[in-house]
Amino acid sequence: MFRAAIDAQVLLRDGEVFMRKRCPDHGWFEGLIYADARAYVEQARFNKPGQAPLRISTEVDRGCPFDCGLCPEHRQHTCLALIEVNTACNLDCPVCFANAGSGFNLTLAEVESMLDRFVELEGHPEVVQFSGGEPTIHPELIAMLDAAQRRDIRFTMVNTNGLRIAEGGPWFGEFAARRPLIYLQFDGLTDETYQVIRGAPLLETKLRALDRLAEADLHVMLVAAIERDVNEHEVGPLIEFGLQHPAVRGVMFQPVTHTGRHPDHDPLRRMTIPDVIRRIDEHPGGSFRASDFVPIPCCFPTCSSVTYAYLGDDGEVIPLPRVLEVDQYLDYITNRTLPAIDRDILHALEGLWSAGSVPGEPTAGRFACAACDIDLPALSDLARRVFMVQLRDFLDPWTFDVKKAMKCCIGILQDDGRMIPFCTYNTIGYREETRARLAARRRGRALPVATAVTAPPAAR
Ligand code: SF4
Ligand code: SF4
Ligand code: SF4
Repeated sequence: MFRAAIDAQVLLRDGEVFMRKRCPDHGWFEGLIYADARAYVEQARFNKPGQAPLRISTEVDRGCPFDCGLCPEHRQHTCLALIEVNTACNLDCPVCFANAGSGFNLTLAEVESMLDRFVELEGHPEVVQFSGGEPTIHPELIAMLDAAQRRDIRFTMVNTNGLRIAEGGPWFGEFAARRPLIYLQFDGLTDETYQVIRGAPLLETKLRALDRLAEADLHVMLVAAIERDVNEHEVGPLIEFGLQHPAVRGVMFQPVTHTGRHPDHDPLRRMTIPDVIRRIDEHPGGSFRASDFVPIPCCFPTCSSVTYAYLGDDGEVIPLPRVLEVDQYLDYITNRTLPAIDRDILHALEGLWSAGSVPGEPTAGRFACAACDIDLPALSDLARRVFMVQLRDFLDPWTFDVKKAMKCCIGILQDDGRMIPFCTYNTIGYREETRARLAARRRGRALPVATAVTAPPAAR
């Protein structure tokens, strides 16, 4: 069943930003959306005009967010597309926005057709990410990686909890030979954190997975779900750990999304991007400061912030915004009046400050070469010298905002040709619709698709 869309007020109160709304059936809701009101207002200047996808897939009928998608009203193309290859998992985490459990395994043929559709929608797409459930337990994942790499898609990622990787063995050898980029679920450096968020003491398993990935020379982004009073104190140590580990090219922090499966929470005390940045800033001896982070302009600016650092020979960590005025370049309001701006640097920064930017890849290295006044090693080594720290605050029923959804640049590819923006998929009811449709198909019973799929060309 789909949720209803209701009017909301965005309130600036006591230095923070809240969303307040009244549902006719359930009464008033209020949730914290950004713990820094001044930054929330100032970041409007990073709102870069969107770029339409090559093709759209649905008509406007009921209005956003019920026409996904992408429909003609959508304001951004897709930097990063996900394919959820299954709903099953080898963990049963108390915190799981995908609500993993029984459901479906996509077939290789279904995945091939989704990949073709992604190329059709985007032309030369940047990144496809295989996710789930847990994609590494899908029996055809390796064939799916091959299918992605045969197409004109620049990067292939796998989003994993790392359990199967930690086991090693012949499967891991075959998997590593495809050289996917790894998004490794890695919430902290203590068993207490894993016990609360993942339901098991997993630290040793996670470290083993990471060491196997290092031995195979694969590039890893650590992905940490951060919950208030659980692991917020681990934010700074996680970055310093990542800087030291040979496989790790960056850390992604995601405040826990209270959709799918999650424990009870207080929506007025949820973690937000400014809370995580504050913890990074306060970490004694930490390598990054609050002023190093700049919003990503291709989506709505308060959805995500990122920074990059150059890693020197002597262990020096040099955040890019300290050697280049990144925020001045990415200020899309003031820039219109600055004719002298260096377009090459702007384009390089736009590549980095994008949801499709990939840590540890040559793109990141090339940028640092063009933009910074740092004595650089050979280009082949350069990508390994760039370290990314990103924050992304997904929307949930307390914080869902149609203007953010309409500019979302992360999509979930569907078996019927649609691409549904990520937070809309998780929050509104599309995930449940897809799961029911695919599970019914596996049982040999077709369910109707809610929205008609069309493919009229749309100008970029
Ligand atoms: S989120 Fe985008 S694709 Fe979905 S209905 Fe809104 S504008 Fe259309
Ligand atoms: S959060 Fe990930 S690892 Fe945990 S149950 Fe869900 S899909 Fe599995
Ligand atoms: S996935 Fe959610 S948080 Fe990310 S850009 Fe889209 S709407 Fe914003």
